[in-house]
Amino acid sequence: MIPVTTVTTRSGKTVDIISQADLRDPLDTGIYVRAYCHFHGSDHQRSLSINKASGWGHCFNAACQRLVLVSEWNPTVAAHLLHRPEPLSNQTTSLRPDRPKVRSTPPPSPLAQQPVLLHEPKKTPKWQQEELRTLIHLEKRLQNSLERTPLVHSYLRGRGIPLEIAQLTGVGYLPPELPATLEENKRHWTLRRWAGRISFPLITPGEQGFIGRTLRHWRPGMDENAHKKLLDRPGRPRRWTKTNPAGWFCCTFEQFGSSIILVEGTFDRLALLTAGFEPYEVVALAGTSVQADWFPPQVKTIVLALDGDEGGQEASSRMAEQLALEGLTVLPCPPPQDGQGKDWNERWRKLGLDGLSPLWETYSISSPP
Ligand SMILES: [Zn+2]
Repeated sequence: MIPVTTVTTRSGKTVDIISQADLRDPLDTGIYVRAYCHFHGSDHQRSLSINKASGWGHCFNAACQRLVLVSEWNPTVAAHLLHRPEPLSNQTTSLRPDRPKVRSTPPPSPLAQQPVLLHEPKKTPKWQQEELRTLIHLEKRLQNSLERTPLVHSYLRGRGIPLEIAQLTGVGYLPPELPATLEENKRHWTLRRWAGRISFPLITPGEQGFIGRTLRHWRPGMDENAHKKLLDRPGRPRRWTKTNPAGWFCCTFEQFGSSIILVEGTFDRLALLTAGFEPYEVVALAGTSVQADWFPPQVKTIVLALDGDEGGQEASSRMAEQLALEGLTVLPCPPPQDGQGKDWNERWRKLGLDGLSPLWETYSISSPP
């Protein structure tokens, strides 16, 4: 049992002050260090997430939600909380609890003198870092070119998506010919594989990314399946490409509602929003695996609405198990096997609202009015 010092701040928050030596199998993911939570003891996910710069962290597990401070990473605040003299630093802090009630079990462990060996962060190749930086830098311009490009408007129309819905969710477009100003820039080569793609912004709890769908070889009137056939020929661009890290196509995690509909594709999400679901109700995985610990504590129920093909069904039963293990209620809702489309975008295009009726029904059970 690891000794823990629990203090209550003046605002009534309970903070567990821990040492970096307490972190179980920590993984450095950039801004955050993720570790298995030694409070609730889950071994399935690294649900304890700590900001390296501030030392503050919390457990994403809905039943746990511990607030922690790693003392070595923020000795100033840790000293205040413990009502000890400040270490050698004249940093000030706004967190000055008035006589915190300290409950020690047993007396606080001596701070680790040795740095903890963190796993090496997964090294993202330089070109991928540059690619992501460039896309973030150009995001506004991609969004503007979506608005100006009639070809994209007719593509979206073909999928039953109004331009306004795409704009609402930050969708953009990079024309096949890069603008002259970009060509001059040495950055342009990193964007070559994004030319002619619709871009979707993605997020993880700490980072952002993009996924892009090519419109090359698409002509107005062509449907999704015909386009896919053309792209499957040798030498053609891949249908999708994404950055590293990638992430989910969704609103910010804090905005999530208590019930979430989980779909596979970005266009499935756009179809559901067009039909009247709210942006905070629908998450598209966009090729990134489900991470139960990404869901903030307010999320209680997941409507699992992956594709109806074999791959989707397999993924669905795996995810249902994983999400249930983390205490979430899972309601499976695959598209019906009625030949009217294997995903929600296709059903929306063919049948309109009727095509989505199983989702409406399941969602109404998951979040009673
Ligand atoms: Zn926990």
